Amino acid sequence: METIYFDNNATTKVAEEVAAEMQPLFCEFYGNPSSMHTFGGQIGHRIKKARDRVASLLGCDPTEIIFTSCGTESDNAAIKGALAAVPDKRKIITSRVEHPAVLAVCRDLENSGYTVVEIGVDKQGRLDLAQLEGQIDDNTALVSIMYANNETGTVFPVEKIARMAADKDVLFHTDAVQAVGKIPQDLSGSHIDLLSLSGHKLHAPKGVGVLYVRKGTRLSSFMLGGHQEAGRRAGTENVPGIVGLGKACELAEQNIEVENTHVKALRDKLEKAILESCPDCRINGDPENRLPNTTNISFEFIEGEAILLMLDKYGICASSGSACTSGSLEPSHVLRAMGVPFTAAHGSIRFSLSRYNTQEEVDHAIEKMPKIVNQLRALSPFVTK
Ligand code: PLP
Repeated sequence: METIYFDNNATTKVAEEVAAEMQPLFCEFYGNPSSMHTFGGQIGHRIKKARDRVASLLGCDPTEIIFTSCGTESDNAAIKGALAAVPDKRKIITSRVEHPAVLAVCRDLENSGYTVVEIGVDKQGRLDLAQLEGQIDDNTALVSIMYANNETGTVFPVEKIARMAADKDVLFHTDAVQAVGKIPQDLSGSHIDLLSLSGHKLHAPKGVGVLYVRKGTRLSSFMLGGHQEAGRRAGTENVPGIVGLGKACELAEQNIEVENTHVKALRDKLEKAILESCPDCRINGDPENRLPNTTNISFEFIEGEAILLMLDKYGICASSGSACTSGSLEPSHVLRAMGVPFTAAHGSIRFSLSRYNTQEEVDHAIEKMPKIVNQLRALSPFVTK
């Protein structure tokens, strides 16, 4: 049975072109870019090329790119580095629906005396912008709001929020891990100071990420040690990962239209067919501002995990909106923040597509979903028979 992979917000397949470009860096050009000899010297220009490609995708200057080990590191470095640069300010503004790579860091900082304000969202996952603006004051060190939500795909008006922060001379960070490669970026003339991305979400390998730092932004180094990345991020470079990420960014730039045509059309077809064929289901997220590849659907009266297991039997990979916490299934913090009723949050499934998905794969899922839902509902104690 072929695997049908609809879990691209969790991680993506490494593009063949990316793997091919990385290959010589393991056994052939394995030198350390910091070495003085010619062998090591062959590496520097490859890192430079990767940096140029990332910068081209983001619409920024290559000097504004710092390579890291993942999206989580980029988020940690941005938040902790920004706070350390303005030690007299003690307030952080973020949202209730951030990824734990931001939320857990902010909540941990409360133990060090920071005040953390988590802005809420409405039923469609949209941020309360008036509340956010009202919270930015003289004590605010940083505003950190994600570009796009990993669970629902909701895209936030980050440029508008960055301007609100800039007007009050406050740094703005965005976790763009789910946005880069799916929606076009142009950081030239942007008010975003810090932006995080992760290789494995855009067809590069796991273990490489980027922190964009706008020229002139004050940021303390988070990793101390060697002088790599112009002294801004110590640690011997993950050269194959960096080169792979560079190639993935080049491919993403070439394919950005495909995301909004091919991928979006497949997502829309899947979503529409499920809504039509399965009663008592609803979309979670902002239908107006959403990633083109993501749909999060709640099926009343059944458990998301049961749907996942049955999809898995048909070779279809998706994910659910619950997490296993201390032995019991907890609906996700994102769906809870949106006020999705408990019964619907428990039955939520996320399908996240990529440019490698096909019509046939979507048709297969469209055929199976009503069968799965009917079968599970027939067993559900919550459905009156
Ligand atoms: N931020 C968001 C929005 C994510 O979806 C993820 C991963 O799922 C991360 C951060 C963490 O990225 P990484 O897995 O590269 O650490």
